[in-house]
Amino acid sequence: MKHDKSRNLYDVAVNLMPGGVSSPVRAVKPYPFFTASAKGSKIIDVDGNEYIDYCMAYGPLILGHSPDEVVNAVNEKLDDGTLYGTPTELEIEYAKLITKLYAGIDMLRFVNTGSEATMAALRLARGFTGKNKIVKVEGSFHGAHDAVLVKAGSGATTHGIPNSAGVPAEFVKNTLQVPYNDTEALTELIEKNKDVAALILEPVMGNSALILPEERYLKEIRKITAENDVLLIFDEVITGFRVAAGGAQEYFGVKPDITTLGKVAGGGFPIGIYGGSKEIMENIAPAGSVYQAGTFSGNPISLTAGYTTVNYLIKNNIHSLINNITENLASGIGDIIQEVDINCSIGHFTSMFCLYFGDKPRDYAEALNLEKDRFIKLYWMLLEKEVFFPPSQYETCFVSAAHSGEDIDRTIEVVGECLKSF
Ligand SMILES: *Cc1c(COP(=O)(O)O)cnc(C)c1O
Repeated sequence: MKHDKSRNLYDVAVNLMPGGVSSPVRAVKPYPFFTASAKGSKIIDVDGNEYIDYCMAYGPLILGHSPDEVVNAVNEKLDDGTLYGTPTELEIEYAKLITKLYAGIDMLRFVNTGSEATMAALRLARGFTGKNKIVKVEGSFHGAHDAVLVKAGSGATTHGIPNSAGVPAEFVKNTLQVPYNDTEALTELIEKNKDVAALILEPVMGNSALILPEERYLKEIRKITAENDVLLIFDEVITGFRVAAGGAQEYFGVKPDITTLGKVAGGGFPIGIYGGSKEIMENIAPAGSVYQAGTFSGNPISLTAGYTTVNYLIKNNIHSLINNITENLASGIGDIIQEVDINCSIGHFTSMFCLYFGDKPRDYAEALNLEKDRFIKLYWMLLEKEVFFPPSQYETCFVSAAHSGEDIDRTIEVVGECLKSF
């Protein structure tokens, strides 16, 4: 397989952008492939290699690359302008749909990224409760702002910098940590600290490999937070619209106080959303005194793509389709793992899956024990056979509605060939 053009572009890029990339997760040694185009389940690099894509831009592309419905809706919308700096009726339409789908959202605000959404959600929790501390789950990732860059997952863990340089200790002294799936640690921490405004977590962890909540974990933390006047923030930037139309809160029947959304919500365009009850959300300016603002917020193109995507998901019952595809893929890979003598396992949940070099982790500490170098070895072997997994043991693979039965069969075959010659 040829990678000459990617290699040459990388040599130029690395002198223009740190690591040659616009976001650290994209950097893989010795160099990443550079994309020329993408359609459906396939991503095509500048050297003409065509990969079956399970990265799917790290989650947003639930309908696959460039789905016709979304492209058509966006093209039509572009004729009306791209940005107004005024309210639009589309914001109302999309907000109505989201408040109907999400038990924890009666009022919301549109922003531009998931990072922005969690940043605003935490400020809101502090402003609403008058308390300063926040509790975060170890290894969870909530974007790249100061308060949450402590034991952060995703690229931060992949590159060995879960606690970023440049974040003063005073800025994060109010960020406390608990392990995932550990209700006792949470109870103890909250009872010791009376100044906790909120617990923020990914209800299903997707940034420190894929880690599932144990039976009753989410229900228990809902109870513990409510009893201690601590707000519960579900960061559903990955799980929102993916695990169900109404997110993990619908799937598990647990209602958070504040929810953040992103990724799928923008249908392939930048978006973030945060919302909660009216009582909480009316603390946001100009209704209230917690400030948050943005030039591009409520961008009509992102809203068009997101609104079209979510309606399409519901109308065509996409969740059951992609969950079945994922189930088939995971069980096929599971059969192969049985046959080979390699310490690895496969986990999946709805349309997400993860191949772990080690046992399925239950928290961040266990995820750190996975053999991440072996994952990267597999990553390159798969890539040579034109299957693209995200280049880190700590990322989750995503299945889209564009993945065909043929894609799945081919992927199982390729994973088999790779693991058997590992
Ligand atoms: C991706 C992600 C974010 C950050 O979203 P951006 O749009 O990249 O800023 C926040 N939370 C979770 C759970 C994510 O997976």
